[in-house]
Amino acid sequence: MEAQSMYDSFNRRINYLRISVTDRCNLRCRYCMPAEGVQLLSHDEILRFDEIMEVVDIAVARGVDKIRITGGEPLVRKGVVELIAMIAKLEGVKDLGMTTNGLLLEQYAVALKEAGLMRVNISMDTTDPDRYREITRIGDISLLFRGIKAAVSAGLTPVKLNCVIKKTPEEPDAQLVKRFAEDNGLQVRFIHEMNLETGYFRPVIGGDGGDCKKCNRLRLTSNGIIKPCLFSSDGFSVRELGAAIALEKALRAKPKSGGVNSRDEFYNLGG
Ligand code: SF4
Repeated sequence: MEAQSMYDSFNRRINYLRISVTDRCNLRCRYCMPAEGVQLLSHDEILRFDEIMEVVDIAVARGVDKIRITGGEPLVRKGVVELIAMIAKLEGVKDLGMTTNGLLLEQYAVALKEAGLMRVNISMDTTDPDRYREITRIGDISLLFRGIKAAVSAGLTPVKLNCVIKKTPEEPDAQLVKRFAEDNGLQVRFIHEMNLETGYFRPVIGGDGGDCKKCNRLRLTSNGIIKPCLFSSDGFSVRELGAAIALEKALRAKPKSGGVNSRDEFYNLGG
């Protein structure tokens, strides 16, 4: 059966679902997590895989063909490889990717590829070990380098590096990442540090995020809220409304462009 196509009220085709599978992370990046840590969701608040699959089934039947698994850090979610395998089996899914900080990729890359994951975006804000420790508060960059290598050799390609910048890609850390990408045949995308409360964001340099005119996405948070937009406080609970109604309401509530989001934090939205 031919999949439908889904359009929002601004006639943008919505074919991309970003799924946050956890609010937990094995890093504490300064632009994402407050120093004092965060109030994490309880186990019961986190969607089970069958609940996630109910949303995915309905979204794919309505025309979603691109899915990205995010977090927190998705690889800290137990059984995430099984979830990938369940999604990869769906006929309508043409692009199945993951955004990860890469620290656990050496352990999971081959299993993810075998489960049907197609490609990965890996967070890398610098190649300097001391700066990396400073930005992530606790990170060991050697695990990141090994994770990138494992992703490339497992064939989770193209590997794209997500590099967060303050203002421009000319910043020293960004230039290090750019050179590393060139030396290793990888793509790099520069993402301006965003602020949900003030509504500050810019289009992704080298990617298609943050360009509201071409917005094609919805988000599912790890506690089951379908978000029409990253920069909106609106959200529709799949546990309260059911997946089909929550999806429809989120589609109808998509704004022309992002505003402010005073409800969520990045670590539970998956960027
Ligand atoms: S800010 Fe909202 S409308 Fe704009 S690209 Fe992001 S999700 Fe889409």
